[in-house]
Amino acid sequence: MRRGTNLPWVGDYNQAVVLDGIRRHPGTSRTDLAGASGLTLQTVSNIVRRLVERGLVQEGVALLRPGTGPGAVRGAGKPRTALSVRPGAALAVGVQFEREHVDAVLLDLSGVVVGVDREPLPDPEAPVELVVAHAAGLVRRLIDTTGAVGVRGVGVAVPGPLDFAGPVRSSAINLPGWRGVAIADLLLRATGLPVLVENDATAAAVGDLWRSRRTGRSFLYVHVGAGIGGGLVLRDEVLHGESGNAGEIGHVVADPAGPPCPCGSVGCLEAVAAPAAVVRRYVERVGSRAARAAGLRLAERTVLDDHDVLGTRAGAGDTVAAEVLDAAADDIARVVLGVVNVLDVSEVVLGGAGLRRTGERLRVALAARLGAAMTREVHPLGVRLGEAGEQAGALGAASAVLHESLSSTWAGVHAPVRALVISPVAPVH
Ligand SMILES: [Zn+2]
Repeated sequence: MRRGTNLPWVGDYNQAVVLDGIRRHPGTSRTDLAGASGLTLQTVSNIVRRLVERGLVQEGVALLRPGTGPGAVRGAGKPRTALSVRPGAALAVGVQFEREHVDAVLLDLSGVVVGVDREPLPDPEAPVELVVAHAAGLVRRLIDTTGAVGVRGVGVAVPGPLDFAGPVRSSAINLPGWRGVAIADLLLRATGLPVLVENDATAAAVGDLWRSRRTGRSFLYVHVGAGIGGGLVLRDEVLHGESGNAGEIGHVVADPAGPPCPCGSVGCLEAVAAPAAVVRRYVERVGSRAARAAGLRLAERTVLDDHDVLGTRAGAGDTVAAEVLDAAADDIARVVLGVVNVLDVSEVVLGGAGLRRTGERLRVALAARLGAAMTREVHPLGVRLGEAGEQAGALGAASAVLHESLSSTWAGVHAPVRALVISPVAPVH
């Protein structure tokens, strides 16, 4: 777990450290927490008392075995007061916008998904206000059907680019009509809940970090939805960059002779390897009639479903489907290898709605290509599918809200960017 500090002015930070340690290691003890965080037992005990008073942490008696908890357990076999978070003490909704639908998840403090729901979006030309109204309705429905109380806010995962100067604005280039949309303001007004906005790939990385029991991680999260994005974490710190748009691997040029990209450049990774590009390449090879006969619907809003069909067909012996998917995987792998070499990460995590049927194929292709990483003889490089899968962005956005709402400094962990949060109420402490 993270290290605390015994200086008096960092009480909030220490509280975040202790709460995070209890959340990640249910059943831990005050002694273990002190050992793992470097805080004195007295400091840990004071913080735990406050967390219990606030109803965020509960106590129980358990016999701890050696090797459990964040620190070494001395005196194994002796009864200790086991600490765990109260799962229902805080909840958050995560919302993720895609072209065809909006997903929502309800996450509790222990990291358990309490509810999941999806709302199809009206046609792509619909005004953004209508899209937001659908999302707000989805949030209300999810809260109502689960009977959730204590929802701290709504985290929103949207494709980039974002603008965090002033009201948080999204100009998601692969969501039609999204230019300078004040997404946080709109959702705040529609739901009455505090809203936190994050780039979808970065949100997915935050979620993977928040749900992980390991610390000191450095990884690239490759998020494939309608577009391709990247989330960057170095030594547990999420990289946001100057404007919250760090990690946009979808706009690295993969083919200088490739098609124009909506971002204004040419041959971007997204333009040659995102689901829409894969489907287009397949149609170019076999013709639209054969593509329809193969089960593709070829409408703008069925791109992800059509991409799924190609994934299934590739596994069933359709060589053209396999070739176009492998060509896209090769393009993604080339760009990811560049990022791995630039940032010296030790993991690549894959997720997003564009990998429902093609994730394992991409994972294998990446693992092979990343064998050429410059650091291959220094440390291993893992490539895996993220556990949150399709809802990774929504889950990450929800976990960011929980993290933010429970610590008044969110320094040192995920994102010290408090300007992202628009809150109609005073923060809960
Ligand atoms: Zn581009």
